[in-house]
Amino acid sequence: SVPQTSAALAHLEDIFVSVKTSQKFHESRLDVILNTWFQLARDQIWFFTDAEDPEINRRAYGHLKVTNCPASHSRQALCCKMAAEFEAFLQTSKSWFCHFDDDNYVNIQALVSKLQEFDYREDWYLGKPSIPEPLKIPDRENMKDQLSFWFATGGAGFCLSRSLALKMRPVAGGGKFELVGDKIRLPDDVTMGYIAEHLLHTPLTVIEEFHSHLEPQRLIEKSLDSQISFSYSKYGNEMNTLVIEGFNDEEDPTRFKSLHCKLFPNFSWCPSKSS
Ligand code: UDP
Ligand code: MN
Repeated sequence: SVPQTSAALAHLEDIFVSVKTSQKFHESRLDVILNTWFQLARDQIWFFTDAEDPEINRRAYGHLKVTNCPASHSRQALCCKMAAEFEAFLQTSKSWFCHFDDDNYVNIQALVSKLQEFDYREDWYLGKPSIPEPLKIPDRENMKDQLSFWFATGGAGFCLSRSLALKMRPVAGGGKFELVGDKIRLPDDVTMGYIAEHLLHTPLTVIEEFHSHLEPQRLIEKSLDSQISFSYSKYGNEMNTLVIEGFNDEEDPTRFKSLHCKLFPNFSWCPSKSS
């Protein structure tokens, strides 16, 4: 790749991080985020939700954005929130837009280091697909054909360079993101892939260090500090979480507190190593 000039090198301040959430998850999911990785990049991280919550907003230092989007898991509701996240980024002058879900832990330091490998003045769509083949959908302009494209799973997080986001603006800005989603009738992360890869010919660059709960978290063992995102989920009684020593499962069901102390052992509430 091209050597970076210092002007292009990403710093923490150059990144806009949005986290999609919903009122029903403010307590169960945001609490651990606000106590862990949010603390390391308080000025960069914004939460996009569907209802006011003064207490969460206070803990987020005023970074809870209440959208008018419905509080549902419907395609439209999720596209509505993604559109709000994208719009909010466009209104900043930041170099990178990174989206995550509220069941992600984001290692902000690893994210910044990764972004330093790329130039925000070029078109970049960075993320991790969760399907082994590109998605194929009927080409509605040309009924007998199919079109195929990769998309980054929203639940693993993805980033867009400012250059690409500005090219997306005519197609996806000012409320048009949702129209594209309506047209292809697919979820928000797929819509993003459709716009980046199909409409703007910017291929997804796969970043292996992004992880959604579609991957078994217990398999993430190598060099935790270079991984960018983690997640957790529950299938019946089976928890899909990182296997990591630290707090007990009751105190730390997501394992994110234990992860946080492993990555940042000197953090205020982490057990001191000497005792
Ligand atoms: N979400 C939302 N509204 C809902 C349900 C989910 O905004 O009614 C958000 C949720 O906060 C998360 C993302 O959508 O950031 C994905 O939801 P979840 O993790 O519950 O489901 P998944 O799609 O991962 O199975
Ligand atoms: Mn999820």
